[in-house]
Amino acid sequence: MSELLVIDQRGDVGEEAPWVLEDGQTMRGHESARRIAELRGGLMRNRGVRAVAAEASDDELEETLKALHDPAHLAALRELHSDEPVVLPALAPPGLAPDMAVCAGLVAAAHEGVRTAIDAARRIVEGQRFTYALCRPPGHHAGPRWVAGYCYLNNAAAAAHTLLRGGIRPVGVLDLDIHYPNGTSAIVAPITDASLHSLHAWPVTNVAARTVTPPTPREHVVEFRGSPSAASYLDAVAASVDQLAQSSEALVLSLGYDTVAGDPHGSWDFSPSIFERIGCLLAASQLPVCVIQEGGYALDTLAACSGAFVDGLLEGAAPPPRRRAQLRRRLAPVRRREHTLRSLDAPYGDAA
Ligand SMILES: [Zn+2]
Repeated sequence: MSELLVIDQRGDVGEEAPWVLEDGQTMRGHESARRIAELRGGLMRNRGVRAVAAEASDDELEETLKALHDPAHLAALRELHSDEPVVLPALAPPGLAPDMAVCAGLVAAAHEGVRTAIDAARRIVEGQRFTYALCRPPGHHAGPRWVAGYCYLNNAAAAAHTLLRGGIRPVGVLDLDIHYPNGTSAIVAPITDASLHSLHAWPVTNVAARTVTPPTPREHVVEFRGSPSAASYLDAVAASVDQLAQSSEALVLSLGYDTVAGDPHGSWDFSPSIFERIGCLLAASQLPVCVIQEGGYALDTLAACSGAFVDGLLEGAAPPPRRRAQLRRRLAPVRRREHTLRSLDAPYGDAA
């Protein structure tokens, strides 16, 4: 039976994020520790889920951060010592105004988030098929030298880097958050053994051009104008999983739940059950999958979303009914033999 290993982030996962600017509008922060509690609750309802604490070392964390982010970016974050939110214009995304305030508590949480992602990937290298980094804050908007959209450090890129360093290559990154992963794109673009697929809403609010021109042929984007139907979205997910599976030894899934109806940062109207289908599609790839938590802010639906995802993933990984029937037939003579042996043994043992 397949298992999903959830990696819990160490320490205090931090306070609520301060304001964020989205499409010119200042919004109060919806990125909070309660998200993680809700997501974990949904995951742990499935009996095939086991949880462990992140235990990647400080050295591994440092090495990974240096590989992904500019020294000036890392230094600017480490110089923050106050929880009073401040804006750092030097860390704004290219061509855009700063879209968030930063504070020391969330910088500390972001470092632990990267440790969580590294651990999730390392366990794939060690042979686990499915892992889920329950990390906070999200990371896919954090670039080599910018912070954006709640993201300080890039968790998905850390996972891809760890897989490659562990000898698993090439790696495919699939981003299913409603927002374009501008940070992941910039970090993985120079990594020739990594491909990126992103399915997201158009117009893209976090790049200056408001639409995406992939920086390399290894990046593929699907932009949806308005809320897509579940069927057309799932077709696009299936196509991306198929394409990535043909050229990858493992997948990193940047999973955002902000595509569901009612998300304060979303505009689509999926129901949480769509994640069951998505889980099934990922399992059908036959590849190891390292899930990285990205967005998703509708607190009342997060547990339903993560629960549906894990149900689909583990059900999809189970042998299909026909194969199960074949297995049962193959195992039947073995079971009959065991029964015969037990019957012969009975006079000498427990007759029950
Ligand atoms: Zn998002």
